[in-house]
Amino acid sequence: MRVRTHFDVVVVGAGIVGLAHAYHALQQGMTVAVVDHADAVAGASVQNFGHACISAQSGDALTYAQAGRRHWLDLSQKAGFWSAETGTHCLARHDDEFAVLQQFVDLHGPERARLLDRSETLDRLPVSGDGVVGGMYMPDDLQVDPRTAAPSIARWLEMSGVHFHWRTAATSFEPGVVHTTRGRLAADTVFVTVNHDIDRLFPDYAEDGGLVRCRLHMMRAELPLKFALSTPLFTGWSLLRYSGFADLPGAPLLAERLRAEFPDYVELDLHQMYTPQPDGSILIGDIHFRDITAPPFQSEAGFEVLLRETRAIFGVDRIDVTERWQGLYSSAPGSEFLLATPTPGVHIVTVTTGIGMTTSMGLAETNIARILEDPDSRALAQVASAQVPVTVADPTLRASGTRR
Ligand SMILES: Cc1cc2nc3c(=O)[nH]c(=O)nc-3n(C[C@H](O)[C@H](O)[C@H](O)COP(=O)(O)OP(=O)(O)OC[C@H]3O[C@@H](n4cnc5c(N)ncnc54)[C@H](O)[C@@H]3O)c2cc1C
Repeated sequence: MRVRTHFDVVVVGAGIVGLAHAYHALQQGMTVAVVDHADAVAGASVQNFGHACISAQSGDALTYAQAGRRHWLDLSQKAGFWSAETGTHCLARHDDEFAVLQQFVDLHGPERARLLDRSETLDRLPVSGDGVVGGMYMPDDLQVDPRTAAPSIARWLEMSGVHFHWRTAATSFEPGVVHTTRGRLAADTVFVTVNHDIDRLFPDYAEDGGLVRCRLHMMRAELPLKFALSTPLFTGWSLLRYSGFADLPGAPLLAERLRAEFPDYVELDLHQMYTPQPDGSILIGDIHFRDITAPPFQSEAGFEVLLRETRAIFGVDRIDVTERWQGLYSSAPGSEFLLATPTPGVHIVTVTTGIGMTTSMGLAETNIARILEDPDSRALAQVASAQVPVTVADPTLRASGTRR
């Protein structure tokens, strides 16, 4: 690959964040290339639950999630992958969990969430009745098939004129130029959407943002349920995880009780959730470990917790696990996005918590609109040679920091 072709936009990283930027750039009539060091979409964007968890977000994440909803549905039609407007149920198995649900419904009203009493909850969800106090239904949330959604979008983009350079790693950037393992690409605007690997291209930005790799235990299983689970299922643990629940007055009390009652689960950073898949199986997750470099080893103790809690919540004895895997996403303390422009026209876009499927479509739409409105944010290819290249992965740069 030589600098034969100039693109309006080059995207580095063919996960959902990069593909969403490629999609919106294409929609605006721009010429687009995507570079990925793998030969297929294989990162976090296929390792996840496929849950566009719109209602539980707040702030920018909520804005992006709500804006992205229609794009997921449009792309599902265009690119031909499974999606469903299922909404999400949340189960309360303690009064303090139900109190948080009540506060959420009081704050946002019935359009965003509906409170369910015990009997409505048991009519809707194939769970054991043990300890069930009630539940909540959030109608706006979506599901997509996590295995096929992003790969189908990549295929559709390629058929629609986006140039894909697979097995090609970006190595460094200067205004208007992306250096890759197969040569240079010229671009007005570059989006670097490489998820946690941003610490390999721009280590200072990752380090300053406290970015680490978050490893998740995940399973796919067949369960002999009373009737099919028809939506993603959240539990009390979910109420501690999403920003939309964080400021509710009951959240600290719930956190305190869970810490006292389940210290081992808190240590594992358990988030007990389930998403039903189009083939009838259920994705089960998850527990979290945070490291700068992700060890490959997964503790069986973590899987045992997930299995034990799955038996308890659904009242089943048998769980036929068909797959286990370790998912990896970026995590940073106290922030959901790492957005930066390290050199003119080169934009880092990293989602720094587990909401990239939910937020990427709206985030990318905003970013493409911004570069169209503000041409100064573009670096023109013809001035590139006059610029000092930005060196990345320079061994003289400061060593990686302490673990967070
Ligand atoms: C187990 C799990 C469950 C999750 N569940 C959900 C969920 O239900 N809902 C939700 O909203 N979010 C969820 N998430 C989060 C979501 O999956 C991520 O936020 C999102 O997929 C991140 O997308 P991405 O494009 O940034 O990263 P990725 O999909 O990881 O893509 C990054 C790409 O960059 C490429 N790359 C890296 N370095 C280079 C380089 N130098 N040159 C070229 N290419 C490079 C990689 O090959 C990769 O293809 C979950 C994540 C995990 C792991």
